[in-house]
Amino acid sequence: MNVPLFELKTQYAKIRDEVRKAVDEVLESQYFIGGPAVEGLEKAVAGYQGVRCGVGVSSGTDALISSLMALGIYRSPLDSNPPDEVIVPAYTFFATAGCVWRVGARPVFADIDPVTFNIDASKIEEKITERTKAIIPVHLFGQCAEMEKVMEIANKHGLKVIEDCAQSIGASRMGRKSGSFGDCGALSFFPTKNLGGLGDGGMVISNSEHVAGEVRRIRNHGMNPKYYHKSVGGNFRLDAIQAAALSVKLKYLDSWRDLRERNAKFYNDAFKDSDIVTPKIIDGNESVYNQYVIRVRNRDKVLADLRSVGVNCEIYYPVALHEQECFAPLGYSKGDFPEAEKAAAESLALPIYPELSEEQLEYVASRVLEVAAKA
Ligand SMILES: *Cc1c(COP(=O)(O)O)cnc(C)c1O
Repeated sequence: MNVPLFELKTQYAKIRDEVRKAVDEVLESQYFIGGPAVEGLEKAVAGYQGVRCGVGVSSGTDALISSLMALGIYRSPLDSNPPDEVIVPAYTFFATAGCVWRVGARPVFADIDPVTFNIDASKIEEKITERTKAIIPVHLFGQCAEMEKVMEIANKHGLKVIEDCAQSIGASRMGRKSGSFGDCGALSFFPTKNLGGLGDGGMVISNSEHVAGEVRRIRNHGMNPKYYHKSVGGNFRLDAIQAAALSVKLKYLDSWRDLRERNAKFYNDAFKDSDIVTPKIIDGNESVYNQYVIRVRNRDKVLADLRSVGVNCEIYYPVALHEQECFAPLGYSKGDFPEAEKAAAESLALPIYPELSEEQLEYVASRVLEVAAKA
């Protein structure tokens, strides 16, 4: 048997007619940038996330960039002051820190909580300096960071908070959805995210009309009114075709989440008597299971052995961010963030996508048990 890490064809087959109809409406209208399809998706996603505003953008990465710019974190080439600092977890997808660098700010890393893989709130305060402007907690693998703790620190020190919700659409903590705690949240519609488009897409969500308005301006070259630029933005707009397809898929998101949870429970149960470390959802959290990430001994051998028997796994992520070559100028060294480094060495993501069959789940679980026991 061969089990892919991720597969979209089965899902598409079930919604093909609806998606095609929605895309066809955009084609017939020939209205490709902004317009009713984008506005409809913005309202629907904001409603789904329990926030007042949504602003469609071109990717999750651009959602982070435009959020930073909208909150005033953007270094002018004429600025001779030292750069602003933004605190980010040392273990996350690269974009979280890459965006901070790209707006001319300095990413300052904090170690993660080994249980959730999310930023360890108790490690944030020691990183704050007079240059610190913001914190970007990431809700990794579909589970919220401890936002009540992050917000307490941010409020105490007057810092902005951008939630990286690329993997957490629909996830909640203490009954509140991810992206509703901070100044804004950044969603990604990359095809492998829980709500994936027909290409790249993203959204900034916020309870603040002001922040949303700034993102609207920034996504269109910082322009408002037309041809008047108060600050420099970019082309971060969402295509109407993406919005039309995403509006169809949004209706199914909760049912897909439930299937992901079913799959996670299947694995949890299968691994409970082994020494495989399974993901733990902490009190107060409802995960959306974007990834199912276990920890194993001899991870690289386990990965290779699993692939050789048709179980396609992946490492999210093999290198902690402070050890990335591009961030060498920041002056970090190995050992600075032991939990992030340990996660990078031990983590292994198994197939979790909603359409996995019982047979596939059983195959993955039994191969993982065999391979991990021998490693
Ligand atoms: C996917 C992802 C992003 C970037 O989203 P894109 O839409 O691919 O640009 C940012 N942060 C995290 C944590 C992600 O998983």
